Amino acid sequence: MALDNREQKIVDEYKRKMEEKFICPKCKGKKSKTHEIATTGSGLSRLYNVQYNEFIIIFCLGCGYTEIYNKGVLFGRDAARDVVDAIFG
Ligand SMILES: [Zn+2]
Repeated sequence: MALDNREQKIVDEYKRKMEEKFICPKCKGKKSKTHEIATTGSGLSRLYNVQYNEFIIIFCLGCGYTEIYNKGVLFGRDAARDVVDAIFG
């Protein structure tokens, strides 16, 4: 699903914030990069908004450690900003 400009702006803001706050749990590195990925839906996931098949990954530039966040969860709630704040402080 293509995001409209407003949503893409929010996504970009999240990604920037995630990169800012990221501290690698493996090597304690602070340099990271985010990337958006999508998977093909199957089974139950097809019943939900396609956004549940979209993810934001953030990986450590020091050691490659990667975390994956489901975009549908992050952006599917009104308090999405609070969620990101809770995760990334
Ligand atoms: Zn690392």
